[in-house]
Amino acid sequence: KTDGRSRYVFFTQDMDHDVRSREETYRELRLALADCDRQLELHYQPIWSLEDRRMVGVEALLRWQHPEQGLVAPGAFIRSAEESGLITVLGEWVLRRAVQDARAWPGLRVAVNVSPIQLRSRKFVEIVREVLGHGGVTAERLELELTETALMAASGEVARSLADLRGLGVHCALDDFGTGYSSLSHIRDIAVDRIKIDRSFVNAVDTVPGAALVEAIVGLARANGLRLTAEGVETPEQLEFLERVGCHEVQGYLFSRPVPASAIARLLTKRAGEGDRSSAAL
Ligand code: C2E
Ligand code: MG
Ligand code: MG
Ligand code: MG
Repeated sequence: KTDGRSRYVFFTQDMDHDVRSREETYRELRLALADCDRQLELHYQPIWSLEDRRMVGVEALLRWQHPEQGLVAPGAFIRSAEESGLITVLGEWVLRRAVQDARAWPGLRVAVNVSPIQLRSRKFVEIVREVLGHGGVTAERLELELTETALMAASGEVARSLADLRGLGVHCALDDFGTGYSSLSHIRDIAVDRIKIDRSFVNAVDTVPGAALVEAIVGLARANGLRLTAEGVETPEQLEFLERVGCHEVQGYLFSRPVPASAIARLLTKRAGEGDRSSAAL
């Protein structure tokens, strides 16, 4: 009975715990994937256009319905999924489910977060091509959210995948802009269609330097023909500022938290029923 534990006899108590809990997480993640239809779930956060004054897209955000811990947010397991390599399978599930759900939402863009590890595999482009091949969602409606880590590591392979994806007509966004290695001047050379300004910057627009920084990002991105979405918009003051400096789209608790797919369908029905009056809530 103690055999399994004796393997850790040379570790300190803490290391023992870390190693075991990491292996435990991998094991549970594998179980979750085997039972994906019950344990995995996508929530969607609406994205609002400040130009059209309506919901124009949603971002798919993964949730794990853990058998004992309840609903677990991705911050608690994406890292483990990447370290264990399970992210490849997990990410494929997310992509398929998001595109499938998007079929019920005509005209809405669906954004999917993609790990750098997924992008490193050439197979990823084939999966995207196949998923879109089932019809119902055009390539233009799919947006892949990549981090700077993924883009900086734009080795030959990643760069080729990116070019192929954009060749399919899929859009790419740089997520969490400002939190990585990027400098403002880097905006000129990155091969994406959109920049998502990280929540930490949106949070700081009530300070003079914070406001100046966001205004500079928006100005430079616009001058380079890029679209902009601000993440984590929580207050009317932030919204007013972002609109004034020319940000195209916003996303955040001020509009909606991430919600189950059924709630997105209801939002769309409500919009159709009310003409566009519902967007007056903006
Ligand atoms: P992200 O892609 O930057 O997603 C935005 C995160 O900010 C989400 O957290 C969202 O719930 C949260 N958020 C949105 N509006 C607000 C706001 O107004 N205030 C605050 N405080 N937070 C806001 P979530 O769902 O916990 O996801 C965290 C991160 O996990 C995501 O950041 C993304 O990097 C990663 N992630 C989520 N789903 C996936 C996935 O399917 N695949 C991969 N590779 N990563 C994912
Ligand atoms: Mg994202
Ligand atoms: Mg983000
Ligand atoms: Mg973020």
